[in-house]
Amino acid sequence: MLHRCRLMIVPALGLLVAATNAVAETPTTTPAAATAATGIDESNLDPSVSPCDDFYQFACGGWIQRTEIPADRSRWGAFSEIEERNLALLRKTLEDDAAGKAVPGDAYGAKLGDTYAACMDEARIDRTAVGELKTLLAGVAGVHDAGTLARHLAATHLQGGGAAFSFGSQQDFADATQVIGGLDQGGLGLPDRDYYVKDDGKFPEIRGQYVEHVAKMMALAGETEAAAKQDAATVMRIETALAHASLALVDRRDPKRVYHRIDLAGIQQAAPTFPWRQYLSDLGFPGITALNVAVPDFFAALDGLVRTVPMADWRTYLRWHVVHGTAALLSKAFVEENFRFYGKALNGEKELRPRWKRCIASADHAMGEALGQSFVRQTFGEEGKQRTKEAVAYVEAAMLADLKGLSWMDEATRKAAEEKLANIANKIGYPDAWRNYDALKVGRTSYLKNAMAAAAFETRRDLGKIGKPLDRTEWLMSPPTVNAYYDPSMNEMVFPAGILQRPFYDRAARLAVNYGAIGMVMGHELTHGFDDEGRQFDAHGNLRDWWSPDVGKEFDRRAECVAKQYDGYVAVDDLHLNGHLTLGENLADLGGIKLAYHAWLAAQKESLGAPATQGRFTDAQLFFLGTAQAWCTKTRPENARLRVTVDPHSPPEHRVNGPMSNSPEFRDAFQCKAGSRMVRPEPCAVW
Ligand SMILES: [Zn+2]
Repeated sequence: MLHRCRLMIVPALGLLVAATNAVAETPTTTPAAATAATGIDESNLDPSVSPCDDFYQFACGGWIQRTEIPADRSRWGAFSEIEERNLALLRKTLEDDAAGKAVPGDAYGAKLGDTYAACMDEARIDRTAVGELKTLLAGVAGVHDAGTLARHLAATHLQGGGAAFSFGSQQDFADATQVIGGLDQGGLGLPDRDYYVKDDGKFPEIRGQYVEHVAKMMALAGETEAAAKQDAATVMRIETALAHASLALVDRRDPKRVYHRIDLAGIQQAAPTFPWRQYLSDLGFPGITALNVAVPDFFAALDGLVRTVPMADWRTYLRWHVVHGTAALLSKAFVEENFRFYGKALNGEKELRPRWKRCIASADHAMGEALGQSFVRQTFGEEGKQRTKEAVAYVEAAMLADLKGLSWMDEATRKAAEEKLANIANKIGYPDAWRNYDALKVGRTSYLKNAMAAAAFETRRDLGKIGKPLDRTEWLMSPPTVNAYYDPSMNEMVFPAGILQRPFYDRAARLAVNYGAIGMVMGHELTHGFDDEGRQFDAHGNLRDWWSPDVGKEFDRRAECVAKQYDGYVAVDDLHLNGHLTLGENLADLGGIKLAYHAWLAAQKESLGAPATQGRFTDAQLFFLGTAQAWCTKTRPENARLRVTVDPHSPPEHRVNGPMSNSPEFRDAFQCKAGSRMVRPEPCAVW
């Protein structure tokens, strides 16, 4: 929603992606073959391909051949099985909660039960949701000038709506101890500005499908077909204007381009038609004065639209965003049309996810840390936390050794980098202090009202941080999430319990395999602190240039090598990756594999009795197989296209072959000869 510099290893995309969950210390299902000895599944391999020719195919070819993407998924990976396992576990918890059999002492069992039960009650939703939608739409009728527009936006933004622009809290880039308001571009129904402004590839076709989708939804909401068509054209006109004023994703990677600290008077001057003070007051936060306006041009353009676009057209746009924002909470016809466009057309999914899975996602979204408590109680042990801490320490030590040996550093920059490294905080498993949901009111009679109440609760919590001392204990992901992130303003790495399990971490696997998999994730997140974006923040999370000019130039030169390398990769059909959009993630992958490898070497030295080789592969080979097999993935072409535009991560194949073809350790492990496809003649090296 708001600009926050979340740098995740796995991208979160789509409407209902939140709830995936973890089982760190419980025994996991054993995959088809030969995992007992090493943790590597040999049935996943494709032995007909040389590891020096295409390592991803070698490591995953067998898995790719026998795996079909489930009908309700746009992408399926070796680690998707974690998600399915966790969903089964959370289903049991929520069904017990809904049946009044919550674990005694679970403070929020009843609320979670109500949330889940209201979502599962499809028959009631089909009977009542359209009436509820009509009430919301009636609220738009009162919009007739800038003042009433601001009033409507405040009310809907509070409840999670996304019309016109976005507003939330953020750390001040220049002084990370301050929490300020963050105004940012927004208001689009398509995934990114590129969908409106670009004429190449499938963009024009998707625009056409989107306009049809808007018309269908408006007709479902009660418009005549002719009026709905006209509405869709109006929506497209306004959104296209917003898109043209929006900053491209690749430009948003530069923190300086999305940081413009001005106060309330400043935004009132830059966008004078919109009554900002009243908007904040209607949100319930009249005292907010410190703001970052991420994209000033966007707000100037928006102000122009408020002045010039007829209010009748604004009402049409706002009605659409009410329907769009609530579609997944409404009756079957809305849910299905919403899926037809966003699931099928944009992502290539064949079937809607079963309702119970959507309801788990919804409960996780509404009360993630309540659901997470029961999850962690059942799954995550002290031992898992200790082992993870230990591995992170080895990865950080590898980074320190790397810094000390880097030829292109000077002493001053090296010292600042070391200070930043020493200052990185780690969060592992789950929060020390859980969120309090006492004030959240939910019931069993309305899924829509529950969702809006949860969104309002979260917006108030978020905006309530502005002007208060920074809370360093906050987590941006719920504990069951199969993901991790680095936050440059916090200068911290966060590993939720969800990711600390097979194939990322397996107690029974060889050390090398675990370091290849979860160690690489840790090295990846750590490198984000020093990628093209992260390197602009200092040890205290402040946006400040701590680089000697020549060393900074050398970093850019080396990073450019990586950008060029990935520009050359094809994602789907003839569609190339954007080497600059994916630069930060690719730098993190390159650094991640290198740091994890050296962390493993050190850990191995200190662990007792680990033999150097065993069976078919050496430990060094197992390390790289551990990395690659964690990323075995199949993606539908529609989803692959979407990701090239909006996802800063490269496709899994390139996340494996890209870094490894630069890695001397990989070349040595598989004794690849110069001239092999997996040995780049002029390898890129940054960290
Ligand atoms: Zn990342």
